[in-house]
Amino acid sequence: MALGTRVVVDNTIHCGECGPCRDGRPLFCEQFVSLGCNAPGAFAEYVVVRTSKLYDIGSLPLDVAVLTEPLSCAMHGVDVLGLSPGSNVLVFGAGPTGLLLSQLLKMAGAASVTVAAPTQSKLDLALLHGANNIVKLERNDLAEAIDSLREIAPEGFDAVIEATGKVTVLEAAVQLARTGGTILVYGLAGENDVAEIKPYEIFSRELTIKGSFAQAFCIGRALFTLQSGSINTEGIITQTVGLNGFATALKNLHDPEHIKTVVGQL
Ligand SMILES: [Zn+2]
Repeated sequence: MALGTRVVVDNTIHCGECGPCRDGRPLFCEQFVSLGCNAPGAFAEYVVVRTSKLYDIGSLPLDVAVLTEPLSCAMHGVDVLGLSPGSNVLVFGAGPTGLLLSQLLKMAGAASVTVAAPTQSKLDLALLHGANNIVKLERNDLAEAIDSLREIAPEGFDAVIEATGKVTVLEAAVQLARTGGTILVYGLAGENDVAEIKPYEIFSRELTIKGSFAQAFCIGRALFTLQSGSINTEGIITQTVGLNGFATALKNLHDPEHIKTVVGQL
C-alpha cells in the first residue's frame, strides 16, 4: 500500500493457531486482541498494524470513514441475527450502534424497525436513520414503554435487539419477542450482571437468544456500505477532540446528549 494512503484499520488480531482459529472461528480466538480494547489502540499519533488489516478508503470523507469499525460490529450483529424478509424488529438503544443497526436491519430484511431509548434527541435522530417508530424509555421504569411497544406489536416482535447493556432491558426484550422470536444480546452488560428470565417462557414460546460480540471479517463490507452511501451517518458524531481532549471524550460517554466523540482530526 502506497505511503500516504488514507485507510481504516481492522483492529482485531487473531493468533491463527488456537483451536477456534484453526476451526475457522477466529472471533473466538483464545488470544483475541482488539487494538484499543485489550491492547494499545489508535489514541496515539502512531499505531503499528499489519498491512493486511488496512483498507483504502479512497475518497470517502474521514467523518464517515471513522464509523467503519462500529458499523462492522453492527453488521456482525445483523449476520448473527439472520433476519427473514418482512420482519418486525425492535431495537433497544439509540447510541451509535442503535442508529447504525436500524439502517442495517432495513437492508437485511426488516419491514419495520422500532427504536426504544431514553434520550429524545437520539430518538428523533433514529427517525432519520431508518426507524419507523420510536418509543421513549424512562430509565427506572420500563412499564409505560412496554405498554407502548405492545401497542406497536401486539403479538410481539420477530426480533428484539438489546443494545443498551441494561439487565432490565434484556428482561423486557424477552417479554416483547413474539412466540418463536429471537432476542439478540448486543449491549455490553457488566461481567457479573444477572438477568431474571423464565426458562419456561423460553421453552414454551420457543424463543431464541443469541449473542453478538465484536466482529470478524466485516470491515471490508462495512466500508463498502459507507462508500455506497446507503447508510446515513449524519448527526452520529457529536464532537471531535484532539489527543489532548481524550478525557473529554471519556466524559462524553456518560452524557446522554452525546453520541460519538471522535479523537483525532477530521
Ligand atoms: Zn487463535
